[in-house]
Amino acid sequence: MKYVLFRKIFLSSLIIALILLISLEIYLSSVVKDTYLSNLKDSLMIQAKLMAEELPLTFTNNLDDFCKRYKEKTGARVTIIDSSGRVLGDSDEPSDIMDNHSNRPEIRDAEISDVGSSIRFSKTIQKNFFYLAIAVNQDSDKMFLRLSLPLHGLEKAMNTIRMRVIIASLLALFVAIIVGLFQTRKITKSIEEITSFSQKVKTGDFKKRLFLKEKGELGDLGKNISDMAQELNNRLQQSEDEKRKMEAILRNMSDGLMLTDKKGRILLFNSSIKKIFGIESNIEGKTLMETLRKVELMEVVDKVVQGKETISREITVTYPKELYLMTTATPFYSQASTEEISGVVVMFHDITRLRQLEEMRKDFIANVSHEIKTPITAIKGFAETLLEGAINDKENAYRFLETIRNHSERLNSLVSDLLTLSRIELGDIKIEKTTVNLDAVVNTIFETMREKAQKKGLYLKKEISPDVREIQADKDRLIQILINLVDNGIKFTEEGGVTVKVQIPSSPPFSKGGHGGINDSSFVLHPSSLNNSIEISVEDTGIGIPKKHLPRLGERFYRVDRARSRELGGTGLGLAIVKHLVKAHSWDMAIESTEGVGTKVRISCPVA
Ligand code: ADP
Repeated sequence: MKYVLFRKIFLSSLIIALILLISLEIYLSSVVKDTYLSNLKDSLMIQAKLMAEELPLTFTNNLDDFCKRYKEKTGARVTIIDSSGRVLGDSDEPSDIMDNHSNRPEIRDAEISDVGSSIRFSKTIQKNFFYLAIAVNQDSDKMFLRLSLPLHGLEKAMNTIRMRVIIASLLALFVAIIVGLFQTRKITKSIEEITSFSQKVKTGDFKKRLFLKEKGELGDLGKNISDMAQELNNRLQQSEDEKRKMEAILRNMSDGLMLTDKKGRILLFNSSIKKIFGIESNIEGKTLMETLRKVELMEVVDKVVQGKETISREITVTYPKELYLMTTATPFYSQASTEEISGVVVMFHDITRLRQLEEMRKDFIANVSHEIKTPITAIKGFAETLLEGAINDKENAYRFLETIRNHSERLNSLVSDLLTLSRIELGDIKIEKTTVNLDAVVNTIFETMREKAQKKGLYLKKEISPDVREIQADKDRLIQILINLVDNGIKFTEEGGVTVKVQIPSSPPFSKGGHGGINDSSFVLHPSSLNNSIEISVEDTGIGIPKKHLPRLGERFYRVDRARSRELGGTGLGLAIVKHLVKAHSWDMAIESTEGVGTKVRISCPVA
């Protein structure tokens, strides 16, 4: 690069120097020539005039001798010509043999304006000659006196000047080359620095800054490039940061997000899209139809492109999981000013849980209505029968009233269980843990349930390990949990009884998968928890629960035998309440049961 620049500078200086040299030579030559000729003309004029005065007035012979004499004095060739052009005398040749001179340019000019001059090449002497002729009046006759000199003096002078000009120019050129070289070196050094700096910037290396020693335009250029690179670096940094933020947002978004062009070609998507639609390959650049195979999605995108308005639609996905997705498609414009849509942003919000809750709500309302309707219908029916006259039939009337009371009690327990559940769910029931004596709690429960158990001839047994006397719990809620469980035990046991045990578990509290159960599926057995937990269990020798029902126990109104449960005054909410209260204590629960053998509900209470 350095040599290219140098060559260019050198060549252009050389050309300029040559042009200058030639112009100078032409100019000086013409000045020298003009001056020389003018001086020559003046001097020859003076000599010619002086000579004219000496011309003999009369002469018989030719004037060759006169001319020769004067040539010796002046050094110039002297020729005398009469008005007809005949040569009367000449210093160099015999005038008799000389041809007529009337057509010579200097003679013609002198004829008109008394003085004439010209430069001609003499074939005889092979040199340029300067001729000056003046008109001389001799007795009413006109004659011409002509002096001529070879111009070798002029050529000599011009050659000398040319030589000097060349020497001076070569000297100047040499100096110019040296200075140019020095200047070029300085400039190329700066340019090299700028080039190497810009090469680094090109490869993304913005670490160094550019400082040039050179001042002036090149210095400014260097500074501007350095500033520009710095600015570029800042902007790149900013856009990198923005990109990173965007990527972090996209990556951590639970909602699926994708960007498509107007034809539904996927331009961008986040990781949730892969999870939602069970995609493993890269879908960038592919169409929605190819990848997600959802016609309704393509329709939504088309509609957004045509209508340029946001559209929301619910779509369902069956693979890899059944999901309900609220899909919102919005047009996007790459430039704020433009009216033309660049593509569509599609958001997928998982509303499966919402849908499930809605379903649960519907089921719940249907269940509650059904549960309430039964006792109310019965109460209404028996009351009407009584009013219609059965009241007078004392024996039956008593039975009917008792049925009405039983149904009212059922209704009462139903409403009270529902209230308890909703209070737990609303957070109205706060768990306030205190140190609770387990023996005392179990005694209270047994006192409450003793009569019910005795009626069925069942025993109530407690086995409390001496190592565990106390527990951190909300006493009233713990009593409620155990009453519900003991009550279930009594209800679904015909022989034997119910045992409440409190111990430090020696075996894993809940075996996952074996018996299923309603223990929180997130419960993870940790070896250390074996020693750091207390297990409270309620075990009966009753009818047991078929395996297939175990996973659903604890759902509201879920019962194995609906008719039997109702007959026994159950509401189908007991285990749901237990489950919620156990969870509120941050405990875990599992149900193990064998049909015809009995049921065991185990509650694991971690000790801090
Ligand atoms: P219910 O008021 O019907 O007892 P729960 O929620 O307490 O309602 O129990 C739900 C269902 O679980 C019961 O209807 C019953 O079928 C079954 N169940 C609960 N505990 C036992 C048990 N100890 N033995 C057998 N089945 C039980």
